[in-house]
Amino acid sequence: MRGRFAPSPTGRMHLGNARSALLGWLQARAAGGAFLVRVEDLDRARCRPEHVQALWDDLRWLGLDWDEPPLFQSAREEAGAYREALEQLTRAGHLYPCFCTRAEVARAASAPHGPHDDGPRYPGTCAQLSHAQAAERARTRTPALRFRVPEGTVVRFEDGVHGPVVQDVAAAVGDFVVRRNDGVASYQLAVVVDDAASRITHVLRGDDLLHSTPRQLLLYAALGHALPPAFAHVPLVLGEDGKRLAKREGAFAIAELRERGLPPERVVGLLAAWSGLGGGSPVSAASLATRFSLERLPRAPVTALQSQLETALGWS
Ligand code: GLU
Repeated sequence: MRGRFAPSPTGRMHLGNARSALLGWLQARAAGGAFLVRVEDLDRARCRPEHVQALWDDLRWLGLDWDEPPLFQSAREEAGAYREALEQLTRAGHLYPCFCTRAEVARAASAPHGPHDDGPRYPGTCAQLSHAQAAERARTRTPALRFRVPEGTVVRFEDGVHGPVVQDVAAAVGDFVVRRNDGVASYQLAVVVDDAASRITHVLRGDDLLHSTPRQLLLYAALGHALPPAFAHVPLVLGEDGKRLAKREGAFAIAELRERGLPPERVVGLLAAWSGLGGGSPVSAASLATRFSLERLPRAPVTALQSQLETALGWS
């Protein structure tokens, strides 16, 4: 069993992603497996080295350790890992160049937005370009590369928290980007290439990514990985205002709680309470490992009550 935590160092770690890290770590430790950390830093404009340093400090402070040197996606990119996968997909005929800008996709899409926050369904504008037309366009614009999703492509999988999931990827998402027009691998491609290379068997992450998994399963199949990982998508923690804690990062940064001298057990106790693993009293991460089970995780979004934050964190 091999699990992982794959944060993007675009901001400080907050209670929401600390909970994902804790649960992934508990899942691995409860099974006697390995736990890995991968830094998803392909978006160079938004990632900061100081957030990477804080990440190590935060994880150690929470009592979470990892078993192998962390992978950095920026280093994987320099090593050509994503280029190789893109070449493999190109050879197999899965990709085509797309010259559309975001604005063009938004204008051409019939619905203003798909069901998710990653943009409208791609209407297929560039799907039928001839070689000659593509070559002509490429003289003035660098294309993105899209993965072709034939009509009727329905993906099913069993999620460890949500149960059976079905998505008609062609209808919900359409052909999706695997290389952005700045030449960088997309999240969907990089995450699959890296989880496969790291032989990850269990992916536990926030359920804001639930709708991405069918695309990732298509990539696993196209890249010839017969055994994709088991997925468990954990319902997010919301504030009393219904907004994701992630969106209020500053107020709930782990680094800030750490620097205030709060005992980490208080924070872990709170994260455990939001995960069906306790009543909120202080507890160490290690002592939770025997209690962990996916069955205990809540199936619906969790609300972080102001009173809980006040009691556990002295937050007001
Ligand atoms: N890097 C992604 C994020 O921070 C998570 C990727 C994943 O767990 O698959 O949201």
